[in-house]
Amino acid sequence: MSYRLTAPVPGWTTTTDVVVVGSGVAGLTVALNVRKAGLRAMVVTKAMLDDGSTRWAQGGIAAALGDGDTPEQHLDDTLVAGAGLCDEEAVRTLVTEGPDAVHRLIGIGAAFDQDADGAILLTREGGHHRRRIAHAGGDATGAEISRALVAAVRSDPGIELIEHALVLDLLTDADGHTAGLTLHVMGEGQRDGVGAIRARAVVLATGGMGQVFSATTNPAVSTGDGVALALRAGAEVTDLEFVQFHPTVLWLGPDAEGQQPLVSEAVRGEGAYLVDGAGVRFMAGQHELAELAPRDIVAKAITQQMQLQGAEHMYLDGRHFGAEMWEQRFPTILASCRSHGIDPVTGLIPVAPAAHYASGGIRTDLTGRTTVPGLYACGEVACTGVHGANRLASNSLLEGLVFAERIAADLAERHRTGDLPERSVDVAAARSARTAPLLAPETRAEIQRLMTHGAGVLRSAASMAATAEGLAALGREAGTHLDEGKPADPRVETWEAANLHLVATALVAAAVLREETRGCHWREDFPERDDAHWLRHLVTVLGADGTPEASAGRP
Ligand SMILES: Cc1cc2nc3c(=O)[nH]c(=O)nc-3n(C[C@H](O)[C@H](O)[C@H](O)COP(=O)(O)OP(=O)(O)OC[C@H]3O[C@@H](n4cnc5c(N)ncnc54)[C@H](O)[C@@H]3O)c2cc1C
Repeated sequence: MSYRLTAPVPGWTTTTDVVVVGSGVAGLTVALNVRKAGLRAMVVTKAMLDDGSTRWAQGGIAAALGDGDTPEQHLDDTLVAGAGLCDEEAVRTLVTEGPDAVHRLIGIGAAFDQDADGAILLTREGGHHRRRIAHAGGDATGAEISRALVAAVRSDPGIELIEHALVLDLLTDADGHTAGLTLHVMGEGQRDGVGAIRARAVVLATGGMGQVFSATTNPAVSTGDGVALALRAGAEVTDLEFVQFHPTVLWLGPDAEGQQPLVSEAVRGEGAYLVDGAGVRFMAGQHELAELAPRDIVAKAITQQMQLQGAEHMYLDGRHFGAEMWEQRFPTILASCRSHGIDPVTGLIPVAPAAHYASGGIRTDLTGRTTVPGLYACGEVACTGVHGANRLASNSLLEGLVFAERIAADLAERHRTGDLPERSVDVAAARSARTAPLLAPETRAEIQRLMTHGAGVLRSAASMAATAEGLAALGREAGTHLDEGKPADPRVETWEAANLHLVATALVAAAVLREETRGCHWREDFPERDDAHWLRHLVTVLGADGTPEASAGRP
């Protein structure tokens, strides 16, 4: 039996063919492509259409587009970054279908930076042995991709858009097939409050879960809702322990919380280097690529220097670029630094690692199907196997594009062969699933504090035991309030807190189990990679009591 969030009975119902949750690169690409197959699409999104991580992406999108580059070389770099846990078939799919997918994105209007002859300009980022990253507006790639996709969906009358709507849980029919979802629309209008959407299939494209940590590059909407919803619906999630911490996030003081400004890897790609407080470079000698080593190596090196020197941050030095290059190549980062009183043209940029990207997520196959029939996932919320233990820089926008197109192709084929019938669901009966207590809004900050202290860049059995106990105590407290007849009210803040609590608990369950250091999972008590025991994925499902249970799964 599945679980659901405590919520009022749906007061309205509507119907479509495919409902897509999320309006980043992944969700909008699915919607545009299922339309080509003659299916109706509905996109539901928590805030405004462009409010996910996609808009914030700076560096660019990786694809073998340059002279002399090949998908095979892109594959090699991706496999190295993934530290033994990439699914090679998934990576091969990404790198071979990637270049055409980027051209199709250009076809719908995304304008990438070009040289005087009209060739796409390519830069380098950590872990890439070639210039392979296409960018737009200098360092505003995500904003341009988002602009182009939003314009395209807005001009298609067959795509219905529901903004300011928080999706709560899945609806399934009597056969256990996905038949739609429940959601809460914020605001007044025909569809106000909790309702239901009936559909033949549901695609989750809800992005990341960076908000489980105190400091993150992710926007406020990235609360892991898709993973929480999928767990409650009985889906398998995998590789949750592999959270990428971006090495160079602008350090804004010890108490800074929530979304923090990113200083893209492309700044190091163009030649900026890391120094400590005394101006000494510390990456040379640590890795053949020095500052352009894969992110986990750079994040660990910065964290180690911070610990050794008792410092709260390190510095990035890009003064040698000069004002003109900063203004033309990195206008967003320059403006962001200056708005915080830091001038990269004349001074050093204080940086420290912060939570950036969830390499794991809802387990899918190469067509985006999850382990729940009729439920698909793509983009950052999914785990296609592309990233393994660590994502290679700028592979995520590409993954969102490529696998969104694959989901649409699978849905189109199922529709063509009659394998995508309308589903009937009794919305009231579907509510017989068990409910988990909601958490008070204040617990959001407590969850973030517990996760940052015990399950952040550095982890150990002891640190994670403390975090797990803290999370369990929050769950018990919510249960007690429920028993006393004083449960937290069902509303956006309490639903999000419940989702954050569930994904944090699941993440810690996996991270405790993996007793080795691999990719972006760094155990102080198990500092070595241990292929003999851990060259395998961890799979997490919700146990009978509603608690996430992780176990060693497929190699
Ligand atoms: C600062 C920053 C810089 C980055 N730079 C790069 C880069 O240069 N290159 C690269 O490849 N990647 C980069 N990334 C990562 C990349 O941007 C993301 O992985 C990618 O954009 C995710 O796309 P998505 O469509 O999966 O999710 P998102 O773009 O995050 O969209 C998720 C959507 O789901 C919606 N949503 C979430 N929960 C719910 C719910 N319960 N109900 C309804 N809607 C919901 C959100 O509102 C949002 O619309 C960067 C990320 C950040 C944060």
